[in-house]
Amino acid sequence: MKNCVSVLVFAILLIGAATTAEAGTTLIHAGELLAVPGRPPTINQTIIIEDGRIKEVRNGFANASDFDGSVAVIDLSNQFVLPGLMDMHVHLQVELGPDNDRDALRMPDQLMQMRSIYFAMNTLMAGFTTVRDVGSSSQEMYALRDAIEKGWIDGPRIIAAGGVGITGGHADVSGMSPVLMEFFTSENVCDGPYDCRRATRNVIKYGADLIKITSTGGVMTDRATGTAQQMEMDELKEVVLAAARMGKKVASHAHHEDGIVAALEAGVASIEHGSYTGPKAIKLFRETGAYLVPTLLAGKTVVALALEVDYMTDIVKKKAIRVGSDMAANFEKAHKAGVNIAYGTDSGISRHGTNAEEAVLMVEHGMSEMDVIVSATINAADLIDMSDSIGTIEAGKFADIIAVDNSPLDNIDELLDVNFVMKGGKVYKDDSRRTRKEH
Ligand SMILES: [Zn+2]
Repeated sequence: MKNCVSVLVFAILLIGAATTAEAGTTLIHAGELLAVPGRPPTINQTIIIEDGRIKEVRNGFANASDFDGSVAVIDLSNQFVLPGLMDMHVHLQVELGPDNDRDALRMPDQLMQMRSIYFAMNTLMAGFTTVRDVGSSSQEMYALRDAIEKGWIDGPRIIAAGGVGITGGHADVSGMSPVLMEFFTSENVCDGPYDCRRATRNVIKYGADLIKITSTGGVMTDRATGTAQQMEMDELKEVVLAAARMGKKVASHAHHEDGIVAALEAGVASIEHGSYTGPKAIKLFRETGAYLVPTLLAGKTVVALALEVDYMTDIVKKKAIRVGSDMAANFEKAHKAGVNIAYGTDSGISRHGTNAEEAVLMVEHGMSEMDVIVSATINAADLIDMSDSIGTIEAGKFADIIAVDNSPLDNIDELLDVNFVMKGGKVYKDDSRRTRKEH
């Protein structure tokens, strides 16, 4: 044992509040550790963290006295520890509800932004340390992303999309009086390849990490314009090319297979929802390696709402019941056929912080627990080109780490109740002591 005297051991006693564990070394004693999803978990491991990053993962429980300087020990010896989860399809600025129309007219932008911070925090506390926002007012979302990145406020890492869509399409405004629609119409609504090239460059100019398009109609559009292909091939190709020229990927919302196929042929990186993924689309998914982001939770949520609430119009309800009921069976086929899946919920349709419910649905529809966790870690990191820094618990990566009571590989429901959340070496939640069993 070396240099015992200089070793300062902090007992970390956390009661819900975020605590900084930045200075010095942090050791996490993990009873069971899924360091690399896809490989089997190991028992009794120590994760050594310095400056927010993982320095080493070591067999057995290392002692604080083995290290110089200040050392904090976090005891998760009776927990199942895994990488922070990632949700590739959220809308942090909204949550579907009866007050949406009133809020759009009466809620000040500043208050709406505060609410986004609240939604983001709910997401982080549920164990989702990284999210991809694919549809919010862009400047607000870029500001939220950057404020979190700078450490000014707490929240998950945000990868933020800029939206490009066609006139009257799913990304355009609907369900308002003409004067309000004119007021709310985005400058990034475009028609024809050259105009869509301009719009793509414009969203990148203002800070988009990726481009979100809508190659088909959408359920929540309050217009009877269907859920089949809407953007033309020349528009799709132009968006993908203009984005690629500036190093950005494109994600396309798509329900019907014609729009999925067109978007994949144009070269998008991911298909969102993919509700009617059939044999033609599956073949293209496999050829291109593009990801399907299934959003089964959105399907389930809109079906339930269509049957229960009165704030959806009949046009929306009809589409919700049809598409929402069909998407899970098509997801099963796609997964069985070997399509790459990246985890995504469409939270904002569902409540923020319930993101893990998607995992339960994915297992219900034929995916193994391990494959679900891979989709929410390794695959998600690959989709956002962050495999070097997140997605596994390995040396050099950010210390984005969560813990649950028992193995989610045996029961995926464990992910619904995350006890411990660390992002970049900072602890945001530690309820593990309350639930820990005695040895
Ligand atoms: Zn969405």
